[in-house]
Amino acid sequence: MLTNDELAKWDRENFMHPSTHLAQFARGEAPQRIVTGGEGAHITDRDGNRLLDGFAGLYCVNVGYGRQEIAEAIAAQARDLSYYHAYAGHGSEASITLSKMVMDRAPEGMARVYFGLGGSDANETNIKLVWYYNNILGRPKKKKIISRWRGYHGSGLVTGSLTGLELFHKKFDLPLDQVIHTEAPYYFRRPDASMSEGDFVGYCVEKLEALIEAEGADTIAAFIGEPVLGTGGIVPPPAGYWEAIQAVLEAHDILLIADEVVTGFGRLGTMFGSDHYGLKPDLITSAKGLTSAYAPLSASIVGQKMWDVLERGTDENGVLGHGWTYSAHPIGAAAGVANLKLIDSLGLVENAGTVGAYLNERMQAAVGDHAHVGDVRGEGMLCAVELVADRDARRFFDASEGKGAKVVAAMLKRGVIARAMPQGDILGFAPPLCLTRDEADRIVEVTAESIAEVLG
Ligand code: PLP
Repeated sequence: MLTNDELAKWDRENFMHPSTHLAQFARGEAPQRIVTGGEGAHITDRDGNRLLDGFAGLYCVNVGYGRQEIAEAIAAQARDLSYYHAYAGHGSEASITLSKMVMDRAPEGMARVYFGLGGSDANETNIKLVWYYNNILGRPKKKKIISRWRGYHGSGLVTGSLTGLELFHKKFDLPLDQVIHTEAPYYFRRPDASMSEGDFVGYCVEKLEALIEAEGADTIAAFIGEPVLGTGGIVPPPAGYWEAIQAVLEAHDILLIADEVVTGFGRLGTMFGSDHYGLKPDLITSAKGLTSAYAPLSASIVGQKMWDVLERGTDENGVLGHGWTYSAHPIGAAAGVANLKLIDSLGLVENAGTVGAYLNERMQAAVGDHAHVGDVRGEGMLCAVELVADRDARRFFDASEGKGAKVVAAMLKRGVIARAMPQGDILGFAPPLCLTRDEADRIVEVTAESIAEVLG
Protein backbone atom coordinates (compact mmCIF):
# COMPACT_ATOMS: atom_id res chain seq x y z
CA MET A 1 0.00 0.00 0.00
CA LEU A 2 1.25 3.49 -0.84
CA THR A 3 2.22 5.71 2.06
CA ASN A 4 0.29 8.91 2.61
CA ASP A 5 3.38 10.92 1.68
CA GLU A 6 3.74 9.14 -1.65
CA LEU A 7 0.09 9.63 -2.51
CA ALA A 8 0.20 13.28 -1.51
CA LYS A 9 3.25 13.83 -3.72
CA TRP A 10 1.75 12.01 -6.73
CA ASP A 11 -1.43 14.01 -6.25
CA ARG A 12 0.38 17.37 -6.34
CA GLU A 13 2.52 16.30 -9.31
CA ASN A 14 -0.05 14.61 -11.57
CA PHE A 15 -3.64 15.32 -10.76
CA MET A 16 -5.46 18.38 -12.14
CA HIS A 17 -8.33 18.86 -9.71
CA PRO A 18 -11.58 20.61 -10.64
CA SER A 19 -12.39 24.00 -9.08
CA THR A 20 -8.96 24.26 -7.47
CA HIS A 21 -6.27 26.95 -7.26
CA LEU A 22 -3.85 25.04 -9.48
CA ALA A 23 -0.67 26.90 -8.58
CA GLN A 24 -1.26 26.83 -4.82
CA PHE A 25 -2.11 23.15 -5.00
CA ALA A 26 1.02 22.32 -6.96
CA ARG A 27 3.13 24.29 -4.46
CA GLY A 28 1.61 22.47 -1.53
CA GLU A 29 -0.14 25.56 -0.20
CA ALA A 30 -3.74 24.47 -0.80
CA PRO A 31 -5.34 21.73 1.27
CA GLN A 32 -5.47 18.12 0.18
CA ARG A 33 -7.54 15.26 1.52
CA ILE A 34 -7.45 11.62 0.54
CA VAL A 35 -10.87 10.19 1.26
CA THR A 36 -11.08 6.49 1.97
CA GLY A 37 -14.57 5.62 3.08
CA GLY A 38 -17.94 6.68 4.34
CA GLU A 39 -20.96 5.53 6.24
CA GLY A 40 -24.29 7.31 6.61
CA ALA A 41 -23.55 11.03 6.85
CA HIS A 42 -19.84 10.60 7.66
CA ILE A 43 -16.70 10.21 5.57
CA THR A 44 -13.27 9.03 6.68
CA ASP A 45 -9.84 9.96 5.31
CA ARG A 46 -6.32 8.52 5.25
CA ASP A 47 -5.27 10.67 8.19
CA GLY A 48 -7.82 8.94 10.38
CA ASN A 49 -10.38 11.76 10.46
CA ARG A 50 -14.07 10.99 10.61
CA LEU A 51 -16.04 13.97 9.32
CA LEU A 52 -19.75 14.73 9.39
CA ASP A 53 -20.49 15.66 5.78
CA GLY A 54 -22.87 18.60 5.90
CA PHE A 55 -22.76 18.89 2.12
CA ALA A 56 -23.31 15.25 1.01
CA GLY A 57 -20.23 15.46 -1.21
CA LEU A 58 -21.53 18.06 -3.64
CA TYR A 59 -25.20 17.88 -2.63
CA CYS A 60 -25.34 14.43 -4.14
CA VAL A 61 -24.86 11.51 -1.74
CA ASN A 62 -28.52 11.74 -0.81
CA VAL A 63 -28.98 8.26 0.66
CA GLY A 64 -25.71 8.57 2.59
CA TYR A 65 -22.44 6.70 2.22
CA GLY A 66 -21.82 2.97 2.36
CA ARG A 67 -25.18 1.65 1.18
CA GLN A 68 -24.51 -2.00 0.42
CA GLU A 69 -27.74 -2.41 -1.57
CA ILE A 70 -26.43 0.00 -4.19
CA ALA A 71 -22.90 -1.41 -4.13
CA GLU A 72 -24.31 -4.87 -4.72
CA ALA A 73 -26.57 -3.73 -7.55
CA ILE A 74 -23.55 -2.13 -9.24
CA ALA A 75 -21.43 -5.26 -8.76
CA ALA A 76 -24.16 -7.54 -10.10
CA GLN A 77 -24.65 -5.30 -13.13
CA ALA A 78 -20.91 -5.22 -13.81
CA ARG A 79 -20.79 -9.00 -13.69
CA ASP A 80 -23.86 -9.53 -15.93
CA LEU A 81 -23.43 -6.72 -18.42
CA SER A 82 -20.95 -3.98 -17.66
CA TYR A 83 -21.78 -2.05 -20.80
CA TYR A 84 -23.82 -1.91 -23.89
CA HIS A 85 -24.79 1.30 -25.68
CA ALA A 86 -28.29 2.72 -25.86
CA TYR A 87 -28.19 3.90 -29.48
CA ALA A 88 -30.80 2.80 -32.01
CA GLY A 89 -33.18 1.25 -29.55
CA HIS A 90 -30.75 -0.74 -27.40
CA GLY A 91 -31.22 -0.89 -23.66
CA SER A 92 -30.72 -2.98 -20.57
CA GLU A 93 -33.19 -4.15 -17.97
CA ALA A 94 -31.66 -1.58 -15.59
CA SER A 95 -31.99 1.40 -17.95
CA ILE A 96 -35.54 0.53 -18.99
CA THR A 97 -36.61 -0.07 -15.38
CA LEU A 98 -35.05 3.20 -14.33
CA SER A 99 -36.83 5.10 -17.12
CA LYS A 100 -40.14 3.75 -15.79
CA MET A 101 -39.23 4.63 -12.19
CA VAL A 102 -38.21 8.17 -13.15
CA MET A 103 -41.36 8.78 -15.19
CA ASP A 104 -43.55 7.39 -12.40
CA ARG A 105 -42.02 9.98 -10.08
CA ALA A 106 -41.80 12.91 -12.51
CA PRO A 107 -44.20 15.85 -12.27
CA GLU A 108 -47.30 15.84 -14.45
CA GLY A 109 -46.95 16.44 -18.15
CA MET A 110 -43.60 14.73 -18.69
CA ALA A 111 -43.27 12.24 -21.55
CA ARG A 112 -39.79 10.64 -21.80
CA VAL A 113 -36.40 10.55 -20.12
CA TYR A 114 -32.94 10.69 -21.74
CA PHE A 115 -30.01 9.51 -19.60
CA GLY A 116 -26.58 11.14 -19.67
CA LEU A 117 -23.78 11.26 -17.14
CA GLY A 118 -23.90 14.46 -15.09
CA GLY A 119 -25.73 17.73 -14.63
CA SER A 120 -23.67 19.68 -17.15
CA ASP A 121 -24.26 17.26 -20.00
CA ALA A 122 -27.96 16.99 -19.15
CA ASN A 123 -28.31 20.76 -19.46
CA GLU A 124 -26.32 20.63 -22.67
CA THR A 125 -28.81 18.06 -23.99
CA ASN A 126 -31.73 20.20 -22.90
CA ILE A 127 -30.46 23.31 -24.69
CA LYS A 128 -29.92 21.28 -27.87
CA LEU A 129 -33.46 19.90 -27.62
CA VAL A 130 -34.82 23.43 -27.24
CA TRP A 131 -32.96 24.59 -30.37
CA TYR A 132 -34.08 21.53 -32.32
CA TYR A 133 -37.68 22.12 -31.19
CA ASN A 134 -37.73 25.69 -32.47
CA ASN A 135 -36.12 24.67 -35.76
CA ILE A 136 -38.79 22.03 -36.28
CA LEU A 137 -41.44 24.63 -35.52
CA GLY A 138 -39.88 26.90 -38.16
CA ARG A 139 -38.66 29.53 -35.70
CA PRO A 140 -34.92 29.60 -36.41
CA LYS A 141 -34.45 32.98 -34.69
CA LYS A 142 -35.99 31.88 -31.38
CA LYS A 143 -32.82 30.50 -29.75
CA LYS A 144 -31.58 32.63 -26.84
CA ILE A 145 -31.70 31.21 -23.35
CA ILE A 146 -32.39 33.34 -20.29
CA SER A 147 -30.66 32.28 -17.11
CA ARG A 148 -30.33 34.08 -13.78
CA TRP A 149 -27.31 35.72 -12.24
CA ARG A 150 -26.10 33.32 -9.54
CA GLY A 151 -27.77 30.37 -11.27
CA TYR A 152 -25.55 27.29 -11.50
CA HIS A 153 -26.05 24.98 -14.46
CA GLY A 154 -22.65 23.40 -15.02
CA SER A 155 -19.27 24.36 -16.39
CA GLY A 156 -19.24 23.35 -20.06
CA LEU A 157 -19.44 25.89 -22.89
CA VAL A 158 -23.19 26.44 -22.97
CA THR A 159 -23.74 25.33 -19.38
CA GLY A 160 -20.87 27.47 -18.05
CA SER A 161 -22.52 30.34 -19.94
CA LEU A 162 -25.85 29.60 -18.27
CA THR A 163 -24.12 29.61 -14.91
CA GLY A 164 -24.35 33.18 -13.63
CA LEU A 165 -21.24 33.24 -11.45
CA GLU A 166 -18.23 35.35 -12.34
CA LEU A 167 -15.68 32.66 -11.50
CA PHE A 168 -17.07 30.40 -14.21
CA HIS A 169 -16.89 33.07 -16.94
CA LYS A 170 -13.69 34.98 -16.18
CA LYS A 171 -10.92 34.25 -18.73
CA PHE A 172 -12.98 31.52 -20.43
CA ASP A 173 -14.60 33.84 -23.01
CA LEU A 174 -18.00 33.05 -21.53
CA PRO A 175 -20.91 33.58 -21.60
CA LEU A 176 -21.61 32.69 -25.23
CA ASP A 177 -23.83 35.12 -27.14
CA GLN A 178 -26.91 32.88 -27.04
CA VAL A 179 -27.14 33.16 -23.25
CA ILE A 180 -28.47 36.22 -21.41
CA HIS A 181 -28.94 36.73 -17.69
CA THR A 182 -31.63 38.26 -15.55
CA GLU A 183 -32.06 39.15 -11.87
CA ALA A 184 -31.56 36.45 -9.21
CA PRO A 185 -34.55 36.01 -6.87
CA TYR A 186 -32.31 36.83 -3.92
CA TYR A 187 -34.51 38.71 -1.49
CA PHE A 188 -31.79 39.22 1.12
CA ARG A 189 -29.75 41.10 -1.51
CA ARG A 190 -32.70 43.12 -2.83
CA PRO A 191 -31.67 46.53 -4.16
CA ASP A 192 -33.69 48.45 -1.60
CA ALA A 193 -34.12 47.24 1.99
CA SER A 194 -37.62 48.69 2.21
CA MET A 195 -38.96 46.32 -0.49
CA SER A 196 -41.43 43.65 0.69
CA GLU A 197 -41.12 40.16 -0.79
CA GLY A 198 -44.04 41.00 -3.05
CA ASP A 199 -42.34 44.22 -4.21
CA PHE A 200 -39.18 42.27 -4.94
CA VAL A 201 -41.04 39.65 -6.99
CA GLY A 202 -42.52 42.56 -8.96
CA TYR A 203 -39.02 43.92 -9.46
CA CYS A 204 -37.74 40.53 -10.77
CA VAL A 205 -40.69 40.37 -13.15
CA GLU A 206 -40.02 43.91 -14.42
CA LYS A 207 -36.38 43.04 -15.05
CA LEU A 208 -37.37 39.90 -16.96
CA GLU A 209 -39.98 41.74 -19.02
CA ALA A 210 -37.50 44.51 -19.83
CA LEU A 211 -34.94 41.94 -21.00
CA ILE A 212 -37.50 40.18 -23.19
CA GLU A 213 -38.61 43.51 -24.62
CA ALA A 214 -35.02 44.57 -25.35
CA GLU A 215 -34.04 41.29 -27.00
CA GLY A 216 -37.38 40.54 -28.68
CA ALA A 217 -39.52 37.57 -27.59
CA ASP A 218 -39.09 36.09 -31.06
CA THR A 219 -35.37 35.59 -30.26
CA ILE A 220 -35.85 33.91 -26.86
CA ALA A 221 -36.38 30.18 -26.67
CA ALA A 222 -36.21 29.25 -23.00
CA PHE A 223 -35.71 30.30 -19.40
CA ILE A 224 -33.66 28.05 -17.14
CA GLY A 225 -33.74 28.14 -13.36
CA GLU A 226 -33.14 26.03 -10.28
CA PRO A 227 -36.27 25.85 -8.10
CA VAL A 228 -33.99 26.97 -5.23
CA LEU A 229 -30.77 28.73 -6.28
CA GLY A 230 -27.99 26.37 -5.21
CA THR A 231 -24.34 27.14 -5.76
CA GLY A 232 -25.19 30.82 -6.18
CA GLY A 233 -25.93 30.97 -2.44
CA ILE A 234 -28.67 28.45 -1.49
CA VAL A 235 -31.53 30.91 -1.90
CA PRO A 236 -35.18 29.82 -1.81
CA PRO A 237 -37.31 32.12 -3.98
CA PRO A 238 -39.55 34.74 -2.42
CA ALA A 239 -43.23 33.73 -2.17
CA GLY A 240 -45.04 34.03 -5.49
CA TYR A 241 -41.83 34.24 -7.57
CA TRP A 242 -42.32 31.15 -9.72
CA GLU A 243 -45.98 31.84 -10.36
CA ALA A 244 -45.18 35.37 -11.55
CA ILE A 245 -42.22 34.29 -13.70
CA GLN A 246 -44.17 31.47 -15.33
CA ALA A 247 -46.94 33.90 -16.31
CA VAL A 248 -44.37 36.05 -18.15
CA LEU A 249 -42.85 33.03 -19.90
CA GLU A 250 -46.24 31.79 -21.00
CA ALA A 251 -47.20 35.19 -22.39
CA HIS A 252 -44.09 35.18 -24.60
CA ASP A 253 -44.08 31.50 -25.59
CA ILE A 254 -40.80 30.87 -23.78
CA LEU A 255 -40.06 27.33 -22.60
CA LEU A 256 -39.18 26.61 -18.98
CA ILE A 257 -36.27 24.33 -18.05
CA ALA A 258 -36.32 23.41 -14.37
CA ASP A 259 -32.76 22.56 -13.37
CA GLU A 260 -33.42 20.03 -10.62
CA VAL A 261 -29.91 18.64 -10.42
CA VAL A 262 -29.88 19.52 -6.70
CA THR A 263 -33.60 19.45 -5.92
CA GLY A 264 -34.62 16.34 -7.88
CA PHE A 265 -35.45 13.14 -5.99
CA GLY A 266 -36.28 14.50 -2.61
CA ARG A 267 -34.00 17.27 -1.36
CA LEU A 268 -36.81 19.75 -0.70
CA GLY A 269 -39.01 17.18 1.03
CA THR A 270 -40.91 16.62 -2.22
CA MET A 271 -39.87 14.32 -5.06
CA PHE A 272 -39.14 17.31 -7.32
CA GLY A 273 -38.75 21.03 -6.67
CA SER A 274 -41.26 21.56 -9.47
CA ASP A 275 -43.91 19.88 -7.28
CA HIS A 276 -42.79 22.01 -4.35
CA TYR A 277 -43.21 25.35 -6.12
CA GLY A 278 -45.92 24.52 -8.67
CA LEU A 279 -43.61 24.69 -11.67
CA LYS A 280 -44.87 23.39 -15.00
CA PRO A 281 -41.57 22.84 -16.80
CA ASP A 282 -41.12 21.79 -20.40
CA LEU A 283 -37.82 20.09 -19.53
CA ILE A 284 -36.31 18.95 -16.25
CA THR A 285 -32.61 18.47 -15.66
CA SER A 286 -31.59 16.03 -12.97
CA ALA A 287 -28.49 14.13 -11.89
CA LYS A 288 -26.96 13.94 -8.40
CA GLY A 289 -29.91 12.48 -6.43
CA LEU A 290 -30.80 10.08 -9.25
CA THR A 291 -28.02 7.70 -8.18
CA SER A 292 -26.93 9.48 -4.97
CA ALA A 293 -23.62 9.70 -6.87
CA TYR A 294 -22.88 5.99 -6.51
CA ALA A 295 -22.30 6.10 -10.27
CA PRO A 296 -22.45 8.98 -12.76
CA LEU A 297 -25.88 9.36 -14.35
CA SER A 298 -28.14 12.25 -15.33
CA ALA A 299 -31.65 12.54 -16.66
CA SER A 300 -33.17 15.02 -19.08
CA ILE A 301 -36.90 14.67 -18.65
CA VAL A 302 -38.85 15.88 -21.67
CA GLY A 303 -42.37 17.29 -21.43
CA GLN A 304 -45.17 16.13 -23.73
CA LYS A 305 -45.37 19.41 -25.64
CA MET A 306 -41.73 19.13 -26.67
CA TRP A 307 -41.83 15.38 -27.15
CA ASP A 308 -44.54 15.65 -29.81
CA VAL A 309 -42.36 18.06 -31.78
CA LEU A 310 -39.25 15.90 -31.36
CA GLU A 311 -41.12 12.93 -32.82
CA ARG A 312 -42.30 15.08 -35.69
CA GLY A 313 -38.71 16.25 -36.17
CA THR A 314 -37.41 12.74 -36.64
CA ASP A 315 -40.24 11.90 -39.03
CA GLU A 316 -39.15 14.87 -41.11
CA ASN A 317 -35.36 14.63 -40.66
CA GLY A 318 -34.44 11.13 -39.64
CA VAL A 319 -32.53 9.96 -36.58
CA LEU A 320 -31.96 12.49 -33.79
CA GLY A 321 -28.22 13.17 -33.98
CA HIS A 322 -27.55 13.31 -30.28
CA GLY A 323 -26.08 10.80 -27.84
CA TRP A 324 -23.07 9.86 -25.76
CA THR A 325 -21.23 6.52 -25.69
CA TYR A 326 -22.18 6.27 -22.03
CA SER A 327 -25.84 7.42 -22.31
CA ALA A 328 -27.93 5.21 -20.01
CA HIS A 329 -24.84 3.30 -18.88
CA PRO A 330 -26.08 0.03 -17.34
CA ILE A 331 -23.98 0.46 -14.19
CA GLY A 332 -25.31 3.97 -13.59
CA ALA A 333 -28.82 2.73 -14.30
CA ALA A 334 -28.46 -0.18 -11.84
CA ALA A 335 -27.24 2.29 -9.21
CA GLY A 336 -30.24 4.51 -9.98
CA VAL A 337 -32.77 1.71 -9.59
CA ALA A 338 -31.29 0.61 -6.24
CA ASN A 339 -31.03 4.23 -5.09
CA LEU A 340 -34.65 5.14 -5.87
CA LYS A 341 -35.82 1.97 -4.13
CA LEU A 342 -33.83 2.95 -1.03
CA ILE A 343 -35.18 6.50 -1.06
CA ASP A 344 -38.69 4.99 -0.94
CA SER A 345 -38.03 2.24 1.59
CA LEU A 346 -36.18 4.55 4.01
CA GLY A 347 -38.73 7.36 3.63
CA LEU A 348 -35.96 9.80 2.75
CA VAL A 349 -38.12 12.35 0.95
CA GLU A 350 -40.13 12.76 4.13
CA ASN A 351 -36.99 12.81 6.27
CA ALA A 352 -35.55 15.57 4.08
CA GLY A 353 -38.65 17.63 4.85
CA THR A 354 -38.82 17.01 8.60
CA VAL A 355 -35.14 16.86 9.59
CA GLY A 356 -34.40 19.63 7.07
CA ALA A 357 -36.97 21.87 8.77
CA TYR A 358 -35.44 20.97 12.14
CA LEU A 359 -31.93 21.83 10.90
CA ASN A 360 -33.16 25.19 9.62
CA GLU A 361 -35.03 26.02 12.84
CA ARG A 362 -32.09 25.07 15.05
CA MET A 363 -29.67 27.02 12.86
CA GLN A 364 -31.86 30.11 13.02
CA ALA A 365 -32.13 29.80 16.81
CA ALA A 366 -28.38 29.25 17.29
CA VAL A 367 -26.85 31.87 15.00
CA GLY A 368 -29.71 33.99 13.64
CA ASP A 369 -29.09 36.81 16.14
CA HIS A 370 -25.32 36.93 15.79
CA ALA A 371 -24.07 40.41 14.89
CA HIS A 372 -22.34 39.05 11.76
CA VAL A 373 -25.12 36.81 10.50
CA GLY A 374 -27.32 38.63 8.03
CA ASP A 375 -29.54 35.79 6.93
CA VAL A 376 -30.32 32.17 7.76
CA ARG A 377 -32.40 30.57 5.04
CA GLY A 378 -33.25 27.21 3.58
CA GLU A 379 -35.84 24.79 2.30
CA GLY A 380 -36.02 21.06 2.90
CA MET A 381 -32.52 19.65 3.43
CA LEU A 382 -30.82 22.86 2.27
CA CYS A 383 -29.66 25.60 4.58
CA ALA A 384 -27.42 28.67 4.30
CA VAL A 385 -25.97 31.15 6.74
CA GLU A 386 -24.92 34.44 5.16
CA LEU A 387 -22.24 36.40 6.99
CA VAL A 388 -22.17 40.19 6.91
CA ALA A 389 -19.87 42.93 8.16
CA ASP A 390 -22.83 45.01 9.32
CA ARG A 391 -26.32 43.58 9.77
CA ASP A 392 -28.30 46.79 9.85
CA ALA A 393 -26.62 48.29 6.82
CA ARG A 394 -26.54 44.91 5.01
CA ARG A 395 -22.88 45.59 4.35
CA PHE A 396 -20.84 42.60 3.20
CA PHE A 397 -17.26 41.71 4.07
CA ASP A 398 -14.61 42.36 1.49
CA ALA A 399 -14.16 39.14 -0.49
CA SER A 400 -10.40 39.26 0.13
CA GLU A 401 -11.01 38.67 3.86
CA GLY A 402 -12.38 35.19 3.06
CA LYS A 403 -14.59 35.14 6.16
CA GLY A 404 -16.84 32.35 4.88
CA ALA A 405 -13.85 30.15 4.05
CA LYS A 406 -12.36 30.83 7.50
CA VAL A 407 -15.54 29.73 9.27
CA VAL A 408 -15.70 26.61 7.10
CA ALA A 409 -12.06 25.83 7.98
CA ALA A 410 -12.86 26.27 11.69
CA MET A 411 -15.77 23.85 11.28
CA LEU A 412 -13.55 21.30 9.60
CA LYS A 413 -11.19 21.37 12.60
CA ARG A 414 -14.22 20.36 14.66
CA GLY A 415 -15.11 17.52 12.30
CA VAL A 416 -17.97 19.01 10.28
CA ILE A 417 -17.94 19.76 6.55
CA ALA A 418 -19.83 22.82 5.32
CA ARG A 419 -19.24 24.52 1.96
CA ALA A 420 -18.00 28.08 1.55
CA MET A 421 -20.22 29.03 -1.39
CA PRO A 422 -18.25 30.59 -4.24
CA GLN A 423 -19.76 34.09 -4.34
CA GLY A 424 -20.23 35.87 -0.99
CA ASP A 425 -19.52 34.79 2.57
CA ILE A 426 -22.15 32.10 2.65
CA LEU A 427 -21.94 28.84 4.61
CA GLY A 428 -23.81 26.18 2.69
CA PHE A 429 -25.41 23.01 4.07
CA ALA A 430 -26.91 20.20 2.00
CA PRO A 431 -26.48 17.07 4.11
CA PRO A 432 -27.52 13.57 3.06
CA LEU A 433 -31.29 13.15 3.20
CA CYS A 434 -30.81 10.46 5.88
CA LEU A 435 -29.48 13.02 8.38
CA THR A 436 -30.64 12.41 11.95
CA ARG A 437 -31.69 15.09 14.43
CA ASP A 438 -28.57 14.43 16.48
CA GLU A 439 -26.40 15.00 13.44
CA ALA A 440 -28.34 18.18 12.65
CA ASP A 441 -27.68 19.35 16.24
CA ARG A 442 -23.96 18.69 15.78
CA ILE A 443 -23.85 20.70 12.53
CA VAL A 444 -25.57 23.62 14.24
CA GLU A 445 -23.41 23.46 17.36
CA VAL A 446 -20.19 23.46 15.32
CA THR A 447 -21.44 26.28 13.08
CA ALA A 448 -22.16 28.46 16.12
CA GLU A 449 -18.80 27.69 17.75
CA SER A 450 -16.92 28.36 14.53
CA ILE A 451 -18.68 31.65 13.80
CA ALA A 452 -17.85 32.73 17.35
CA GLU A 453 -14.21 31.72 16.88
CA VAL A 454 -13.76 33.63 13.60
CA LEU A 455 -16.11 36.59 14.06
CA GLY A 456 -16.37 36.96 17.83
N1 PLP B 1 -27.15 22.12 -12.33
C1 PLP B 1 -27.12 22.34 -11.02
C2 PLP B 1 -28.30 22.98 -10.37
C3 PLP B 1 -26.01 21.97 -10.25
O1 PLP B 1 -25.99 22.23 -8.94
C4 PLP B 1 -24.93 21.35 -10.89
C5 PLP B 1 -23.76 20.93 -10.12
O2 PLP B 1 -23.58 21.27 -8.97
C6 PLP B 1 -24.99 21.15 -12.27
C7 PLP B 1 -26.12 21.53 -12.97
C8 PLP B 1 -23.85 20.53 -13.00
O3 PLP B 1 -23.76 19.20 -12.69
P1 PLP B 1 -22.39 18.40 -12.91
O4 PLP B 1 -21.40 18.99 -11.96
O5 PLP B 1 -22.77 16.99 -12.61
O6 PLP B 1 -21.99 18.59 -14.33
